[in-house]
Amino acid sequence: MQIVVVGSGYVGLVTGVCLADVGHHVICVDNNDEKIKKLRGGKPPIFEPGLDGLMQRNTEHERLSFTTDLGSALKGAEVVFIAVGTPQGEDGSADLQYVKAVAKDVGAKAQNDMLVIVKSTVPVGTCDAVEQVVTAELKKRSSPLKLIVASNPEFLKEGTAIEDFMRPDRIIAGVEDPAAEEPLREMYRPFIIDDPGKLMIMDRHSSELTKYGANAMLATRISFMNELARLCEKVGADIDNVRRGMGADARIGKKFLYAGPGYGGSCFPKDVQALMRTAEERGVELKVLNSVEDANKAQKLFAAEKIKRHFGDLKGKHVALWGLAFKPGTDDVREAPAKTIVDFLVKHGATVAAHDPEGAKNFAFEMGELKGLTYAKSAYDALKGADALVLVTEWSEYRRPNWDKAAQLMRSKVVFDFRNQYQYSHVKAEGFHYECIGRPDARS
Ligand code: NAD
Repeated sequence: MQIVVVGSGYVGLVTGVCLADVGHHVICVDNNDEKIKKLRGGKPPIFEPGLDGLMQRNTEHERLSFTTDLGSALKGAEVVFIAVGTPQGEDGSADLQYVKAVAKDVGAKAQNDMLVIVKSTVPVGTCDAVEQVVTAELKKRSSPLKLIVASNPEFLKEGTAIEDFMRPDRIIAGVEDPAAEEPLREMYRPFIIDDPGKLMIMDRHSSELTKYGANAMLATRISFMNELARLCEKVGADIDNVRRGMGADARIGKKFLYAGPGYGGSCFPKDVQALMRTAEERGVELKVLNSVEDANKAQKLFAAEKIKRHFGDLKGKHVALWGLAFKPGTDDVREAPAKTIVDFLVKHGATVAAHDPEGAKNFAFEMGELKGLTYAKSAYDALKGADALVLVTEWSEYRRPNWDKAAQLMRSKVVFDFRNQYQYSHVKAEGFHYECIGRPDARS
């Protein structure tokens, strides 16, 4: 099929590359010249494991190309995806200006009938609005074209995005016009050969809400476990034991039960907010979600305050911080807990040497010049002269440090493990003071 994907970020690019890899002809469009230049030069502008190889293969086989020119890309297209950002607006609601701008452009530039698929995460009713925008543009130029709008939210996770797209748990699609169903089935067939029932077709509003419901549920699990971890610290229980015990219940399941320094990323914080705004507008109060968000903000500070509590005064302390991306496997630092922790440390007079295998550049860009914050070339470089090591993101290279070497490099032997990665006995054997989240070790 001939497919256009508008927006070549974490979602659009992965979508385009994966669709090309199963044989579709895909043109990825972005209005950022720099991004398109990089992509044409064979370089993904983001870090996502496996993406560059797949991009190269499909570009070479001429199934994948990149442009800033939407008009020419749309010629002959059967499907156009809208996969641009929907960042948080000032009042917390999703800012739809980019989605609507693309819808307007598509309506103005389409030259044949096609399916317009909204892949961005958008509040209930957005596909209706997109349809209105597209129809108005067609009307302006007295065009008889038929552009059908469908909802198709994306569930990939940064860090495992390719695998998630290639082998989805399910594909959600929302349609009002049954004519949208066949092209959707045709396009996604290669990804669900094992079980065509994975393509779940429903009405557009339900499809839009499914995405927010899923993210809000996952955020709720994390906040709940974080609060339970705080209780564990008070009553002498171990959150890892509690997690394993709870997760063994098939009704609960094992995933998304890990305590840590709070959730971040480009999705959970903004999607929880946007869902609350949608509910507010309709006069529905989502009490649980209000608390999920409060608990998450508190958790980020709870982690940072552990460091202050240990030292009493942070003035003059030098902290090595491992992990800036909001999770391992990505260079995305949007809403990363590391930001709150670094801010807190620097504000209280500490200096920070930070390291991240992929995220340092984005972190430096987003934080701007921050006095007291420097970036280390390697994880061990960051440890030189440090009064404490703080693990914030559990990249695999941080999972088994050489504690001997760490002890030699550091000024004092203190470890804050906010991802519960290390074994107390190992760290303690090396003479480190060790604190983590929700395990009895934390009381040491
Ligand atoms: P992103 O910021 O990485 O990418 C968006 C891209 O759209 C950018 O490259 C930007 O230049 C481009 N763009 C903006 N306006 C444009 C226009 N008028 N024409 C062409 N290109 C334009 O965003 P993302 O992380 O890929 O997220 C996209 C959407 O997918 C959001 O709604 C997000 O909530 C949702 N989503 C994201 C993830 C994730 O893990 N990142 C997962 C699922 C869903």
